[in-house]
Amino acid sequence: MPGTGGRGGRAARFTVAWVLMLGAGLAALGALGAPVAQRRPERPAASGTGFAYDPVLLEHETGASHPERPERLTAVIERLQSKDLLARLVRIGPRKDAEAWLGLIHSPEYVARVRRECRAGAPFLDSPDTPVCPRTYEAAVAAAGCVLSAVDAVMEGRVENAFCAVRPPGHHARRERAMGFCIFNNVGIAARYLQKQHGLRKVLIVDWDVHHGNGTQEAFYDDPSVLYFGVHGHPLYPGTGAAEERGSGPGEGFTINVPLRAGAGDEEYVQVVQGSLLRAALDFGPEFVLISAGFDAHKDDPLGGMQVTAEGFGRLTRLVKGVAERCCDGRLVSVLEGGYSLEGLAESVEAHVRVLVE
Ligand SMILES: [Zn+2]
Repeated sequence: MPGTGGRGGRAARFTVAWVLMLGAGLAALGALGAPVAQRRPERPAASGTGFAYDPVLLEHETGASHPERPERLTAVIERLQSKDLLARLVRIGPRKDAEAWLGLIHSPEYVARVRRECRAGAPFLDSPDTPVCPRTYEAAVAAAGCVLSAVDAVMEGRVENAFCAVRPPGHHARRERAMGFCIFNNVGIAARYLQKQHGLRKVLIVDWDVHHGNGTQEAFYDDPSVLYFGVHGHPLYPGTGAAEERGSGPGEGFTINVPLRAGAGDEEYVQVVQGSLLRAALDFGPEFVLISAGFDAHKDDPLGGMQVTAEGFGRLTRLVKGVAERCCDGRLVSVLEGGYSLEGLAESVEAHVRVLVE
């Protein structure tokens, strides 16, 4: 893998380029129609975009024919490198104590079972769609750890925002169960971590993976402090995510699902984000924005059945980044979920990261 060091070795350092964000910030605020005076500066403006990754993420091997494979990350990194984007990103490695934070979403019994079954050579966890290998536990912990480090970097003002190139993905993972290629719910853990470790109250999760983030929704279903917004294909795996699923008890109204029919493209997605998401997000007033950034709604994806282009993902990114700039000083961490066409994934991440660094 070019520029990333050997397996298990020390990661190469990338040049840090501090990119001034002022122009991009003002442009995004203008796009939202928001008066600049409403922006609440809560800390000195950070600049730059983080890139969270670790070579151990490649050691989660799922078999030659599985769509969620190590080459996904290799393709992303090679693409960012070939477009001279990687060198502009601030490299972030996984938080070393990530294991200690998994319990924010998962039971201790589940975490122990994942560790035990992976190390014992089990072929899969809970269902055959989630294959594992003896190094899967380490990779899954590092994936969560990368997201936590990215959150720390943003909260400490070392970067304005960050993209986490991680796998296994997380948004289907439930408290006690692996599901749909996902083992630990990376984004859910990060949302709780922001509250526990950094003292934030309100976190927005935007999930545009083509599959509904059932695990994330479930974790916060009765909780008004985390707004879950999911736009996804329906009917499609895992079958949840109907518009009627809106949260329960004090959390009612803090889960928003927008199911789309197969074949939806850039315009449909942009309309949803510009309409439903923007309204809900501005009402909610998040202190941090997390994106469950799946790119399997890409037109070439073998699983998604949607027609979103890389440029479309760039437009979605600009809109969500605008929400973060308007509400929380630009604080945003984006976390890779799905995306199974290597070329489609690579060009979509490129478009996504280009907007993050603008
Ligand atoms: Zn997906």
